Amino acid sequence: MIVDERFVTYINSLDRGNTEFLNQLERQALSDQVPIIRREMQSLLKVLITMKQPKRILEVGTAVGFSTILMGEYGPKDAEIITIEKYEKRIPIARENFKKAGLDQRITLLEGDALEIMGTLQEPFDFIFMDAAKGQYINFLEDCLRLLKVGGVLLSDNVLQDGDIIESRFAINRRNRTIHSRMREYLYTIKNHEQLTTAVLPLGDGVTISIKM
Ligand code: SAH
Ligand code: MG
Repeated sequence: MIVDERFVTYINSLDRGNTEFLNQLERQALSDQVPIIRREMQSLLKVLITMKQPKRILEVGTAVGFSTILMGEYGPKDAEIITIEKYEKRIPIARENFKKAGLDQRITLLEGDALEIMGTLQEPFDFIFMDAAKGQYINFLEDCLRLLKVGGVLLSDNVLQDGDIIESRFAINRRNRTIHSRMREYLYTIKNHEQLTTAVLPLGDGVTISIKM
């Protein structure tokens, strides 16, 4: 946890939650140990989606569709969402959830590795939510830039690696070292890229918000 737990608990205690369907899905995901965005991130995502009113949204990392449905429910009523997931076990559950939420007409789930799938996409997006394998973000960046409209938003989750990011690579256990160096490269690149304006926020597990110029 990168933020003092008492702050997180207090901030989240102010939160009224989401629609009944999402609240139920959140409980289910937590009990099944399926990763979903945290409460703090849910609020931020709702604010950004409400501000930006994106008509075309791309999500990388569906899991069982919690954040996809959140964007579908709180975004414009005619928004189209494309979401990518490679883990076969989760795909049918996500599809079922999209149906139950009445959003299957507006959400398209593309199955497979995001790097391959993003390469096949052409039509640009207003908003991209990056929430997949942290070590891959740097590899997805070129496609994100190509697929974002000018003025479009790239939101990335889990960028502070549960606090490891500020440690020297030698203090990181071997298993996480590759992620550590790739995530540092990602953060450096999006903070210094001439086409992006980026803010790094110590919220949840660390978040970046980038705008394409
Ligand atoms: N956004 C979801 C949580 C996603 S968890 C929510 O908040 O509800 C991250 C998901 O990304 C996992 O289900 C994992 O299988 C998927 N993933 C990781 N790397 C991927 C890749 N390269 N291509 C496609 N999916 C990937
Ligand atoms: Mg995440």
